[in-house]
Amino acid sequence: MSVVRAIKAVDELVAAGLVPDAAGLEAVAAKYAVAITPAVAALIAAGDPDDPMARQFVPRVEELVTTPDERADPIGDLSHSPVTGIVHRYPDRVLLKAVHVCPVYCRFCFRREMVGPQGLGTLTPAELDAAMDYIAGHEEIWEVILTGGDPLVLSPRRLSDLMARLAGIAHVKVVRFHTRVPVVEPERIDDAMVAALLASGKTTYLAIHANHPREFTPAARAGMALMHRAGLALISQSVLLRGVNDDVETLASLMQAFVENRVQPYYLHHPDLAPGTSHFRLSIAEGQALVSQLRGRISGLAQPTYVLDIPGGFGKAEIGASAIAAADGGWIVRDWQGQAHAYPPRDQSSQD
Ligand code: SF4
Repeated sequence: MSVVRAIKAVDELVAAGLVPDAAGLEAVAAKYAVAITPAVAALIAAGDPDDPMARQFVPRVEELVTTPDERADPIGDLSHSPVTGIVHRYPDRVLLKAVHVCPVYCRFCFRREMVGPQGLGTLTPAELDAAMDYIAGHEEIWEVILTGGDPLVLSPRRLSDLMARLAGIAHVKVVRFHTRVPVVEPERIDDAMVAALLASGKTTYLAIHANHPREFTPAARAGMALMHRAGLALISQSVLLRGVNDDVETLASLMQAFVENRVQPYYLHHPDLAPGTSHFRLSIAEGQALVSQLRGRISGLAQPTYVLDIPGGFGKAEIGASAIAAADGGWIVRDWQGQAHAYPPRDQSSQD
């Protein structure tokens, strides 16, 4: 599918052949923003609503179904926001949400009630001043995480200005960006953007969000290589999604693609309880089984940490099935094939 500018309206989805007709979708688009970049449109198999790229980006009427356990702020950002644009959930780090705009709008987004043209918008100069004052006034803040929205929608000039302000705060040692731009709008990753990301002079990490191996296009790979060469530390973020990556071969290829592009696998998120996303959720038991299968299937370099953001703002918890359990004054530990062994060993044989 070849389009020259981002698709942002239902009639454009129909014209591009990404949906057969507009039935029910105007109501979805009125509630949750729609945007599909040309790079993403090129990856969608038109006419197949179950294509993993279509599922991630093309709106569906199922989004109008909100289940009782879903909530507008699933990870509890608002309960930890001392000033507009800051989320201070853990002692040593804050989120700085400078923008609530993204180049694409993922249909499973955990902040879908906050992002988009009708979302929380961009911080005003006064709000940004207050957010910077908050960071400067809290010496325990070691790391600032720019998220949103997608901070890489900002121009290199505006990002450089932001980074220059963080450069002046001595106790901030690490700046981290959370972004989907390197895969969904890779043309934005150029020398000017990379220079802006490094402008604070702090150690800079970029957490790249990708959920399917098809997102690693030649353009995306070139951007990752450019960023790595320039000295950005690259880590991954993925969401475990029904119909997108909920099989071990897809997950294995995704994690290997990160490693091949020098992106260290970091988080595999269990999908949050965002409104209208139940068609994406699998059970935690299914997720644990998949992550356990990955252990034996691919290199240790390619293993993500499976996490759940506890609803209500209580932070992340690792939820992978534990490989070890206490038993009879010792331990039972499971190997990569699921076989149980006593530790310390009672004899030379397996304890199954
Ligand atoms: S890029 Fe991130 S913040 Fe933006 S819609 Fe996707 S998941 Fe949500």
